[in-house]
Amino acid sequence: MATLKDVLNANVREAAPALYEKLDRNRVRCYSCGHCCPIAEGQAGVCKVRFNQGGKLFAPFGYVGGAQCDPIEKKPFFHAYSGALAYSFGMLGCDLHCSYCQNWVTSQALRDPRAVSPAMRVEPETLVQEAVSQGARLIVSTYNEPLITSEWAVAIFKHAKAARLAAAFVSNGNATPQVLEYLRPWIDLYKVDLKSFDEQHYHQLGGRLQPILDTIRRLHEMGIWVEIVTLLIAGFNDSDEELTRMTEFLAGVSPDIPWHVTAFHADYKMNDTEDTTPEMLLRAAEIGKRSGLRYVYAGNMPGAVGELENTRCAECRELLIARHGYRISAYRITPEGNCPSCGKVVPGRWDRAFRKQITSRPYVPRSPLSTNLTGIS
Ligand code: SF4
Repeated sequence: MATLKDVLNANVREAAPALYEKLDRNRVRCYSCGHCCPIAEGQAGVCKVRFNQGGKLFAPFGYVGGAQCDPIEKKPFFHAYSGALAYSFGMLGCDLHCSYCQNWVTSQALRDPRAVSPAMRVEPETLVQEAVSQGARLIVSTYNEPLITSEWAVAIFKHAKAARLAAAFVSNGNATPQVLEYLRPWIDLYKVDLKSFDEQHYHQLGGRLQPILDTIRRLHEMGIWVEIVTLLIAGFNDSDEELTRMTEFLAGVSPDIPWHVTAFHADYKMNDTEDTTPEMLLRAAEIGKRSGLRYVYAGNMPGAVGELENTRCAECRELLIARHGYRISAYRITPEGNCPSCGKVVPGRWDRAFRKQITSRPYVPRSPLSTNLTGIS
């Protein structure tokens, strides 16, 4: 019987020329993520899903590990197309190995034998048709680390653009200049999961801090709309000092970058750390505001964090968007994207009209998804 590795290795294409170079002795170097792995013939990179065969790099293509419709607020994007439906898809694999990963069943495929998630074959146009038929405003590569499967995302995003959908990544941000240039024509929104501001902690997760900081700066310079999320974990990334350095860095890139600080709960291999409390979120949010960030949000605790679910004008404090969890209860941004009270521009990507929220909860798409996707066995 075919193993998951056999199955995934059969659903690949040669990597985009922009995302790898050929080295001596049939080796290649991959630029799809910040690891920039040199890969010998017959070997795979750190992510396990990109591999060198015959001196060529191959990348995952032609399947999804899951697809789901989410409110855009779940991603979270709070300053883009509020109330819209985000059609989300993911593949398998990741370049990091966070012990608290909430998507470990898909992200740790091929690394952890317990991570078993069925893959389903699908054509890019089928996914986009499905997104349109569900009423989605955008399509999002998420669940696994999308950078390592960028070719597949771009194949889908090209169809999405033709269908007038926006496109987004929900990513750990461990990118390279090459992969960001490759994505640039096709992507509108990018959420970076900034997990810590400590080099040692990033080593524990299998990465480095600097490529992630470079990604945030570069995305902002490119004009791609960026929001940042930090899962607040007691004893890991919640010291005043670390949060101050993190938020001062973000404010230095732009005080208009929204920062979401969200609550940890025990998951995967991290079961002995206390859950994040509302008080811990409020303290972190205060630090973010002190550092100069104008839009600070606290997530995962609907109703427990007061004003930190809402968007207010940074100039006059007028309430612009009221939220409870993913549900929007009021929307007051003008068609031009301004505060209705003082006229200040509200940074973000806004539609001219708020078309009401399609859903405030995730759901698995209706047919024809189930008939158009073929299970790979
Ligand atoms: S995506 Fe990252 S981890 Fe995977 S092969 Fe390329 S550089 Fe290595």
